[in-house]
Amino acid sequence: SRKWGRAIAILKEFEEKCGTPIGKLRQVGDAMDVEMHAGLASEGGSKLNMLISFVDNLPAGDEEGLYYALDLGGTNFRVLRVHLGGKEKGVIGQEFDEVSIPPHLMTSSSEALFDFIAAALAKFVASEPEGFHPPPGRQRELGFTFSFPVKQTSIASGTLIKWTKGFNIEDTVGEDVVGELTKSMEKIGLDMRVAALVNDTIGTLAGGRFYNQDVIAAVILGTGTNAAYVERAHAIPKWHGPMPKSGDMVINMEWGNFRSSHLPLTEYDQALDAESLNPGDQIFEKLISGMYLGEIVRRVLLKMAEEADFFGDTIPPKLRIPFILRTPDMSAMHHDTTSDLKVVGNKLRDTLEISSTSLKMRKIVVELCDIVATRGARLAAGGILGILKKIGRDSVKAGEKQKSVIALDGGLFEHYTKFRVSLESTLKELLGDEAAETIVIEHANDGSGIGAALLAASHSQYL
Ligand code: ADP
Ligand code: MG
Repeated sequence: SRKWGRAIAILKEFEEKCGTPIGKLRQVGDAMDVEMHAGLASEGGSKLNMLISFVDNLPAGDEEGLYYALDLGGTNFRVLRVHLGGKEKGVIGQEFDEVSIPPHLMTSSSEALFDFIAAALAKFVASEPEGFHPPPGRQRELGFTFSFPVKQTSIASGTLIKWTKGFNIEDTVGEDVVGELTKSMEKIGLDMRVAALVNDTIGTLAGGRFYNQDVIAAVILGTGTNAAYVERAHAIPKWHGPMPKSGDMVINMEWGNFRSSHLPLTEYDQALDAESLNPGDQIFEKLISGMYLGEIVRRVLLKMAEEADFFGDTIPPKLRIPFILRTPDMSAMHHDTTSDLKVVGNKLRDTLEISSTSLKMRKIVVELCDIVATRGARLAAGGILGILKKIGRDSVKAGEKQKSVIALDGGLFEHYTKFRVSLESTLKELLGDEAAETIVIEHANDGSGIGAALLAASHSQYL
């Protein structure tokens, strides 16, 4: 029918606009490289903040003692206790607790949010096993993973530049987040010192390095997306501090804010951005990360419902609700292997209250998920190519076969198999066979918590 043809036309037009041929991805990689240089040259020199982490030494593997970590980065936060055994023993034990953040706290006040976090931390500390308590007079030490853009002022302090990923609490912006947490801990008598403030990318990089000394970068693909890597300190013109002994400085790129004319932005992406909490910001993130992929799919489906009666004469009311289609639901539909796409049918029914769908329609939905996920995964690969270019590891120099490992983490990378496979194969394609052999993508399972604890250990006041 004519209507069906219109639905297909909307899909095909969207697919075309989302195209990421290899040439375009090279341009994305080149643009990332250029922006990295600009962001390192001067404060505000680029959309990429290229934040200096104050981490100039990554774990060597001989850290020891009992350390805490706190990971705040999305919808959940985790508290961890890590027992480090020193050389050869590695991580002897770890325990964690995961707490979901009540949505109202994401947009309330700084005090309410940090009080909530401190209370959860205190509860967790209370479960510390007998025999592991610090001797009298010694403070417990914490690595604080705070995965929002922070202007670091030392290894253990930094001010919030802006919120992302659905958080929006005005009175935290410009404040030292360690100060905020410390105030809340003091209020309830929790005697703990923040020894390191890091981002999840830095934590993942540190955690990855602890196990594998070839790790040179970390990428997070979760609710949001970001990357960090090891830069040579002398290649950071905006760094006026002392030259680190190692010669290295870890940079938190804040790559979610990357933007380039080479990015394939569609009308749906423009609208999503305009209606978001942070319009104009985090454009790369809005194309790639878990918070947004399902939402992009919803927007295209809505258009198909409105203009082509895709779901019948009336528009399913739920389809109008922003963020109702979550990326895990999208992923479940995308991976549906049943011959009649039963999972797709069930998801459409359960999440959008669309009760009757034909197989033909369900196939279109899967195709749509594929377009959105593939674009995101391939762009992420283009970004990684940019990092490798920046540090000269995108090609093999004569005779050299040095391995470069990139630690990847985040729920999207971990659970969205088709996304992960597309990212990995695209990166291989971009690098070519010879260089691809030297680059390893490693899943750093929850490296960021352990990484933060490791950095607390190496920045302990008792060393
Ligand atoms: P955060 O980024 O909030 O710190 P995670 O790294 O655990 O937390 O990532 C959570 C995100 O990962 C979710 O918001 C979701 O977008 C994505 N995700 C989780 N599970 C799946 C899944 N099964 N399929 C696709 N995406 C998923
Ligand atoms: Mg996280």
